[in-house]
Amino acid sequence: MNLSAMELSSEQLQAVLISAKSICVLTGAGVSQESGVPTFRGPGGLWRQYRPEDLAAPEAFERNPLLVWEWYAWRRELIQRAQPNAAHLGLVKIEETVTGRDGQFTLLTQNVDGLHERAGSRNVIRLHGSIWQLRCASCAEEREDYSVPLAPFPPRCSCASLMRPGVVWFGEPLPEDSWQKAADAAAACQVFLVIGTSALVYPAASLPLLGKRNGARVVEINPDSTSVSEIADIAVQSKAAEAFSALARFDRQKERA
Ligand code: NAD
Ligand code: ZN
Repeated sequence: MNLSAMELSSEQLQAVLISAKSICVLTGAGVSQESGVPTFRGPGGLWRQYRPEDLAAPEAFERNPLLVWEWYAWRRELIQRAQPNAAHLGLVKIEETVTGRDGQFTLLTQNVDGLHERAGSRNVIRLHGSIWQLRCASCAEEREDYSVPLAPFPPRCSCASLMRPGVVWFGEPLPEDSWQKAADAAAACQVFLVIGTSALVYPAASLPLLGKRNGARVVEINPDSTSVSEIADIAVQSKAAEAFSALARFDRQKERA
């Protein structure tokens, strides 16, 4: 049989996924790109004339909370309209398959959009919080809020202070318990699948290497090369939803054969 590069990748990918007892997945903004949610780096990542790195920062919120909130309001609206794509859905299927045979599946995501949960993923560890979570800038108050648009805007706490998005900004530490669970899953897995992250934001970017050092096979899906490509056993150079659609086609072909 003559296999295209994509089919070859699908065959390898399937073989790796089928045999693994424990799978850890790390996703970044790229997994949601085909759902219409812009990534931070690369085309489509700019809002007005600002760079996301200059807005997703505590200093930016201190300087100009309204500007930061306008950017988050724009993203909340985009994300609310977005639908999970073939990659989000494919990960749900892999989780069902792995847990169905008593294996371990852990999805570590840097995304704040909630699309993995909306697709049906269960064991999701959110490393960078959620865009639907609001947190008081002064007291400990927190709440979930899915309303688009937010009213009043910008949102306020019962203590009268401004609320801020419940996400991890550049320079802020990750929630301790999420980080510990992520590091444990990374160190214990047999296969580490890395999808759509530039692997530039630490400490999340260190997780694939932690997996590799503990014996995991590393598989990357990303149209561009990253530092993960250098340690990957398989690097599928394609968009995430395209790769998962190819995998699904490959599955169907095999079922027919
Ligand atoms: P990033 O913007 O730094 O990098 C995106 C990566 O995705 C790049 O390597 C790019 O080549 C790849 N990519 C682009 N389109 C793709 C596709 N269709 N399929 C697969 N890969 C694709 O994103 P990052 O590494 O996640 O780091 C940025 C930070 O920004 C994270 O902390 C995250 O919290 C936040 N962020 C989240 C969202 C979201 O929730 N959807 C969106 C933008 C940024
Ligand atoms: Zn408060």
